[in-house]
Amino acid sequence: MAHVGARQILSKAQQEGYGVPCLLAGNLEMLIGAVQAAEALSAPLILAYNAQVTPQIPMHLIAPAMVKAAESACIPVATILDHGADLASVEQAIACGFSTVMYDGSSLPFEENVRRTQEVVRIAHTHGVDVEGELGAVGGSSVELGYGYVHSEFTDPEQAVEFVARTGVDVLAISFGNLHGLYNGAPDLDLARVRAIAGRVTTPLAMHGASGLPDSAYAAVIAAGISKINYYTAIARAVTHSLRQALATAEETDLVYHHVIAWTTGQFTDETRRLLYLLRKPVAAVA
Ligand SMILES: [Zn+2]
Repeated sequence: MAHVGARQILSKAQQEGYGVPCLLAGNLEMLIGAVQAAEALSAPLILAYNAQVTPQIPMHLIAPAMVKAAESACIPVATILDHGADLASVEQAIACGFSTVMYDGSSLPFEENVRRTQEVVRIAHTHGVDVEGELGAVGGSSVELGYGYVHSEFTDPEQAVEFVARTGVDVLAISFGNLHGLYNGAPDLDLARVRAIAGRVTTPLAMHGASGLPDSAYAAVIAAGISKINYYTAIARAVTHSLRQALATAEETDLVYHHVIAWTTGQFTDETRRLLYLLRKPVAAVA
């Protein structure tokens, strides 16, 4: 009932001035933790599957749980294939019932990115599935943490207009200093570029690599025009650090795997709740 495409959720967020987290839900602890927090705060949510981050968990096994969680949630939930690398993975995600697919052609030359994204949009829209494209390249990595291979290419605002018009994407991921994984020092975000793109296209904009910003930065990012907040590394590290503490201090009789499931599910709930507070409409802006 509440399973919808990302565009519907993000268009409302755009109009009302808040951000929507896109969280990896590659296992049941991540999935259940995220949905529990969003339901508790009556906040919409986007659940993502990323084959590069959790290759041990096949899409065809976890996707039905994600779709079922979305359908039974009391809040609007979108499901998305994160960073689909080719048409085959996009078609698999559509067959699995995801409401949205991301096709990432950002490493390709512009014309090739346009051509392949057009093809994904044509197929996905036939099935009523939304599409997120990426223009410009967001560097870094959510898989191997470190600062070793940061290659970014900022999104050009005029090219963004052309890309959206020619492909018909429902969501556009842009690059403006954001990085996957860990930032090397304080993030240096070009918010003027975000405003320039947001002023030229009505398509909702996504920020990948949104974890690792100071808490105070989110309101400015959202005010500049971002509505989809892809957030993983900080939440994954917070949960893991917390698990290490719990394991280090646990009684021998508590060292059993179902306690690990309970700790991590609770931690994903707590961290998601913390994030949702950061992405809310600023209190001063509430009419
Ligand atoms: Zn990403």
